[in-house]
Amino acid sequence: MNGCIFCKITAGQAPAAILYEDELAVAFHDIHPVTPTHVLVVPRRHITSVNDLTPADEGLVGHLVYVAGQVARQEGIDQSGYRLIFNTGPDAGQAVFHLHLHLIGGRRMGFSIK
Ligand code: 5GP
Ligand code: ZN
Repeated sequence: MNGCIFCKITAGQAPAAILYEDELAVAFHDIHPVTPTHVLVVPRRHITSVNDLTPADEGLVGHLVYVAGQVARQEGIDQSGYRLIFNTGPDAGQAVFHLHLHLIGGRRMGFSIK
């Protein structure tokens, strides 16, 4: 999609520290990490948010979760633990409107909802 930063990254038209890519998805370091490990797993296809998924996307979303687990292992946090988050809409603070799965870990996390 025109003007979408994650479309540019997945197309190789904007820089990112890429950890993994295949025909469906790309994983790269978040530019403003909130934890020692903070990776975004995004589909190559532009999908605005979880609200825009269709039944045909179920396999793709499963693939994003699978890739996140593989990257967690690659980054050495699969045993210490991690979180996978899809921020969706204003109350979640979604800032980039191209579906992305946050993989965060590398330190102990609380669960405060502020
Ligand atoms: P959201 O709040 O939409 O779930 O999170 C968007 C995330 O994308 C944020 O954590 C932000 O730091 C990250 N981000 C925004 N622009 C860029 C960028 O150009 N490159 C990378 N690597 N991450 C970005
Ligand atoms: Zn996009």
